Amino acid sequence: MLRKEALALGLIHYQGDKPCKAGHATLRLVGSGECVTCKKERTATYHRVNHERVRELKAAWKQRNLVKERLRQRLVARKRKQDPKKKAESLKRWRARNIPRRNAYSAWRRSAKLRAIPQWADAKAINSVYELSRQLTKTTGEAHHVDHIIPLVGVSVCGLHVEYNLQILTSFANLSKGNKLPY
Ligand SMILES: [Zn+2]
Repeated sequence: MLRKEALALGLIHYQGDKPCKAGHATLRLVGSGECVTCKKERTATYHRVNHERVRELKAAWKQRNLVKERLRQRLVARKRKQDPKKKAESLKRWRARNIPRRNAYSAWRRSAKLRAIPQWADAKAINSVYELSRQLTKTTGEAHHVDHIIPLVGVSVCGLHVEYNLQILTSFANLSKGNKLPY
């Protein structure tokens, strides 16, 4: 089809008679005559080269169009929820980002089950121990665990899930300690 014909029909895209200069046989834009693959590549290159500028423009647009932006985000979230594959992927990403929080959370739940958390427990202080443990794992490359100095389920005594009953051990030290008391 010729561009003129497509224009007369009021189309946005049309199938050209021959491939574009780059050899793409894809649809072309009626407005410019450019092939959509070329346009996509051109846009991608522009974004790569000018990513700072693009980011600024996007942020400025969002500032000017807060309502539209919120609607867009809601639509994206809804679509993600509908797609089980995307939902699983986003959950996986969230989990990867929140490993210390998850470790802290599972320890918290385990401790709650054992009634080892007193009313006055300082959740922030406890969580920061888990965060520090993750940092150590990251910086040293050796796995670190958060251990209860006095085990939550000891033979003679049971410890509490509070920050001063927590210590950070390498996984090797932790596994060899087992459920023993420190003294
Ligand atoms: Zn092309």
